Parts: sequence; structure tokens; C-alpha cells
Amino acid sequence: MLPRFRSRSHEQTVVFGEDHLTVLAGLEKRGRDFIVSTPGHAPAAEAIAQALGQADVWSGARMHTPVAVTEAALDALSASGAGRIIAIGGGSAIGLGKALALRTGLPQVAIPTTYAGSEMTPVLGQTEAGRKTTVRDERVRPGTVIYDVALTLGLPPAISAASGLNGLAHALEALYAPDRTPLTDLAARQAIALMSAALPVVVASPGDGPARAEALQGAWLAGFVLGQTTMGLHHKLAHVLGGMLDLPHAQTHAVLLPHVAGFNAEFLAPLLGPAPGASLAELARSVDAPRSLRELGMKEADIEAVVDEVAGASFANPRPVEPTALRALLEAAWSG
Ligand code: NAD
Repeated sequence: MLPRFRSRSHEQTVVFGEDHLTVLAGLEKRGRDFIVSTPGHAPAAEAIAQALGQADVWSGARMHTPVAVTEAALDALSASGAGRIIAIGGGSAIGLGKALALRTGLPQVAIPTTYAGSEMTPVLGQTEAGRKTTVRDERVRPGTVIYDVALTLGLPPAISAASGLNGLAHALEALYAPDRTPLTDLAARQAIALMSAALPVVVASPGDGPARAEALQGAWLAGFVLGQTTMGLHHKLAHVLGGMLDLPHAQTHAVLLPHVAGFNAEFLAPLLGPAPGASLAELARSVDAPRSLRELGMKEADIEAVVDEVAGASFANPRPVEPTALRALLEAAWSG
């Protein structure tokens, strides 16, 4: 069949490899800034506030963007009267920035420090009452993204490994997405090449600047394809496990990735070689990533509820997802 596709582009400025404080100082001022982060990144957020002046810091961001946390941050944002949101940190901080932008329409600057890729997407996952729901809305895509490699040098090896595999998962699922294009194929393949080469180096030598830069470029491209395509079984599973059981996001992706790649192997093999599941399992082992859902705190008894939730949902996957095969995949991922 002759190729058919629709490709859309979106206005977004990506600055790669420059000092974030210098880039921020060069942006047009919009009154006060509201800077969000997780508690661990409070000092980095305060440093931005100091450098910009006229800024407030809110460092209570949490994983999976709980709506109650967003509402508390929204009160603080309203009180500050800020005209721009700046998020610094991993996907948790960036998720909060997006949730605030959705509710206020304010412009955002995202300064990512992990390989999660959320900064490139118009997608926001929010959690309430044990359920994660997703909003796709251009208002949540940050208008400016600053990738400062120096901020990633302190990302601990264990988080680097899991987060890098999280990025790889975006690129992998983009390769069989129903709305893939020649552009997303190129970006996904380059993301996989960069991340697979860099990850073992950054885990062994966290301060290796060139390897960190390669990994961060891989994360940018993986985030780009995540924002351009519709994800499949892997992301559906990670989403349900995160929302329902509050499992850690990147680590859950890391455990699932070889299993889902094995499940969808026939659609990946032409692009990635004959045994994509086995080669991803090897990469995950080489960077000492978590191997089982059990070690992330999931109980075996929870498998059935996840099977019900995922099998009953509609999502794009190249291979049909039958409950029996899904249960077998989850049992293998649970025991590792
Ligand atoms: P995270 O943001 O929670 O970061 C993990 C931990 O690493 C935190 O404790 C953080 O403080 C610490 N950390 C981050 N960067 C660091 C650095 N450079 N040095 C030292 N410590 C650092 O985790 P994450 O995996 O980046 O993001 C997960 C969240 O992002 C989830 O809520 C997930 O749903 C969301 N996400 C959304 C999208 C999207 O497109 N909507 C895509 C990917 C992830």
C-alpha cells in the first residue's frame, strides 16, 4: 500500500545545551514568575527565583499529578498573581506546571532534569481517587523548553536508568503507532540509538557530560514522538499501574518495556532486529534497572484488577490484547 499520513507541527521553542539561568534571563519578562518543583528540587527552584527576582516558589509537586496537589498549588499561584509558570525537575514538576497552565492559560517554561519527555507533549495525566485520566490539549504543551545538560549530571544512576528506559518506551511505541510518519520514525530510531548507547555510560559514570548530552537528546526526541503519536499497550499498562496502584512511574516503565517489546515483537523486529524483548531485557540488566513489578511493591493479587481495567479499555496496539495473553505478560513482569 502506498504511504498515507498526516503530520502536524506545533510552535515550541527548544533550547538545548545552554545554561538555564542565562536562557531564562534572556526571555521576555511577564511580571512575576511562579516556579514549581518537587521537594528535592526546591534549591534549584529557589536559585531561579533569586536570579529572576519577582518570583514565587512552590515545591510540593508529586508524581502522577494528584488533583488535590494541583488545587493547593493553584491557590498559591492565584495569590502570587504571576504571569508565567516555570517548572524545573522531572515529569512530576512538569506535570504540575501543565496542570496549572490548563487551569489558568498562563505560558510555561519547562526545564527538564530527567528523561521522561513530558515537556514535549500536549498530554497531561492527572490522578484522583486512584484513577489516572489523560487530557490532550495544546494549552498544556510548554511553549519554551530548556535542556541544560549540567542539571542532569546529578541524576542518580538508578533514576537515570529507569528514566532512560521510560524515554525509550516512547520511541519504541512510536515505531508501531497508527499515526506514525516518516518524521516520527526517524526521530524514534535516533532516540533509541542515542539512549541505548548513552544509558550504560551515564549509569557507570554519572558525570560524563557527552554521554549525558546524548541521553538528553534521546529524551528530547523520545518526548517529541510521544507528543506526535498515539501510544499502545505499554503506555496503557504503565498508566493503569501508576494510577491504580501508585507504582513509581519510570521504574514501572523500565520493568514493563522488555515484556511489551516481546509481546509486540513481530511489529518491531523489522526495525529493531529479531528479538527486541531480549535485547531490551539485556540493556535493562546492564544498567541495573528494576526487573519486577513485585520489587516495586505490587501485590500478585492486584494482577487481575489490572487485566480487567486494561482488557476493558480501548487503545491502539498493533497486536490484539486478549485477557489471557495480557495476564501472562503481567505475571511475567510481576515475577521478573
Ligand atoms: P519525577 O519527576 O518524580 O522525578 C523522580 C525523582 O528524581 C524525584 O525525586 C526528583 O526530585 C528526582 N530528580 C529529578 N531530576 C533530578 C536530577 N537531575 N538530579 C537529582 N534528582 C533528580 O519522575 P519522572 O519519572 O521524571 O516523571 C514521572 C511523572 O511524569 C509521572 O507523573 C508521569 O505520569 C509524568 N509523565 C508525563 C508525561 C506526559 O507526556 N504527560 C510523559 C512522561 C512522564
